[in-house]
Amino acid sequence: MSEIKLQEAVDRLKNSGVRITPQRHAVLEYLLNAKIHPTADDIYKALEGKFPNMSVATVYNNLRVFREIGLVRELTYGDSSSRFDCNTSDHYHIICDECGKIVDFHYPSLDEVESLAEKVTGFDVRDHRMEIYGTCADCKEKSLVKH
Ligand SMILES: [Zn+2]
Ligand SMILES: [Zn+2]
Repeated sequence: MSEIKLQEAVDRLKNSGVRITPQRHAVLEYLLNAKIHPTADDIYKALEGKFPNMSVATVYNNLRVFREIGLVRELTYGDSSSRFDCNTSDHYHIICDECGKIVDFHYPSLDEVESLAEKVTGFDVRDHRMEIYGTCADCKEKSLVKH
């Protein structure tokens, strides 16, 4: 399944005139297989063994290229720890307080919140973001074992 997604993504890069370097390919492959919404640092750490010459800056550059052609979405958190999401369909996130893992879930888009916000504030609404917080199943299990 992710092989097809990877090929599609590679085709999209090529069609956008982006050169596919081995590093770029590896970053893309990692992103498509990662379910946790990694940070640039996570990606760097996962790939540095394979590409000793690669820097975090290279990873960032690649992510920027992917973002510009719409292959990934960047979730910013006010500091440098942006998370990257290659699921660009509409979905919401639930985030683990313990390990920071972000999991996708689907729920009908809350469009009425956008129109209400627009009406109440007079803003032109661009997008919205909803996040749910809690403890993931893995962390819950770990805390049970500890006690
Ligand atoms: Zn967790
Ligand atoms: Zn997501």
